[in-house]
Amino acid sequence: QHKLNPKMNQRNNRRLVLFPVPFQGHINPMLQLAQILHNRGFSITILHTDLNSPDPSSHPHFAFRSIGDGLSQSEASMSNVVRLIALLNARCAAPFEERLREEVSSPDGRDAPVTCLIADALFRFTWDVAERAGVRRMVLRTGESRLEDPVAEFPPLQVKDLPGINTAEPELLDQLLHDMTEGIKDSSGVILNTFEDLEEISSRNFPIGPFHKCGPSSSGSLLAEDRSCISWLDEQAPNSVVYVSFGSIATVGESEFSEIALGLADSQQPFLWVVRPGSVGGSELLEKLPSCFLEALEERGKIVKWAPQQEVLAHCAVGAFWTHNGWNSTLESISEGVPMMCMPCFSDQKVNARFVSDVWRVGVHLNNGLERRKIAEAIRKLLVEKEGEEAHGATGQVPECTERSGKCP
Ligand code: UDP
Repeated sequence: QHKLNPKMNQRNNRRLVLFPVPFQGHINPMLQLAQILHNRGFSITILHTDLNSPDPSSHPHFAFRSIGDGLSQSEASMSNVVRLIALLNARCAAPFEERLREEVSSPDGRDAPVTCLIADALFRFTWDVAERAGVRRMVLRTGESRLEDPVAEFPPLQVKDLPGINTAEPELLDQLLHDMTEGIKDSSGVILNTFEDLEEISSRNFPIGPFHKCGPSSSGSLLAEDRSCISWLDEQAPNSVVYVSFGSIATVGESEFSEIALGLADSQQPFLWVVRPGSVGGSELLEKLPSCFLEALEERGKIVKWAPQQEVLAHCAVGAFWTHNGWNSTLESISEGVPMMCMPCFSDQKVNARFVSDVWRVGVHLNNGLERRKIAEAIRKLLVEKEGEEAHGATGQVPECTERSGKCP
């Protein structure tokens, strides 16, 4: 299942149309899946919204087609993702229908016929449209698959782990989740970026991940990757660095930001910290941090705005990942055998974190809030004490897992 087609250029005269939700954590697995399917001979068309449109030059062998979402700048804000997904569902239906019909009719006959649409599970409108256009539809769920099970049958979940998003519009969220569940039931099948050892999977589900380990794939990053962190990692001792990143959406408050900084300073370990633009109050916050942190940063730290994360996690200098447990980050960390420090924020992240700490035992929970001494303790537990070794031992059981890279001795 993970082997590349040896005749990479041999096309099978079938085309797949893929349509991701325009968030980094959804674009990445969709593009990775597209690459896997392309390697199997399918021609690929990627539909994308104007918002967060991917860079076609990173994937020259795919056709990219834009779906006008008509969002104004304020509507396109990531500060209310529930509203944004609802807006995209409302605005994209008509242009998507028009585009899908064009793709299906392929008037000049040059393109291979469309065999199937693979749409993100959050795009409700795609199922009616696909049915009307006579196109088979599969859904991609970028997260894991058991969120709907009741807690009583699903140890070790605690009620607080149940996925949730703080929103001022709970009815809207209920509607989105309801539509997603119905859309999944009604599809021809569900593709999951996971693998069987992590899941109990039903017959209609296809756990063919981790996608990014299934062959070479290009970056789907919406932000420029700062590669200077790789040469910085090359200078660090093996398994000594804590990599800190909370994904593409989560934000932290000013006081949390400074506690994170102080915890990193107190840990005495080297750190690589992704401070994404907009993820905290402002970049000048860095200068306001106390001198003990600024000294630690100069001596043994590095801050970047966006990292080539998969490469960072595969680097032998990285010994722990302080993560928000987005599904992609969780899977990427497990794939490289890097133990996690879990700080889930919203949605499925809490479930993922509970499984990381209590079921798969490949990380520790940062319970009881953010406090500098607890942070430093958790980092040292993973990097210096035995717990990290045990977690390392438990990870890396992934199909096709590759050797870790980097210049560590
Ligand atoms: N990512 C990255 N560079 C960074 C931070 C994150 O390339 O500096 C990638 C990461 O590898 C993952 C995605 O962004 O593939 C984040 O997805 P995830 O599901 O972990 O979290 P989300 O952003 O959806 O909350």
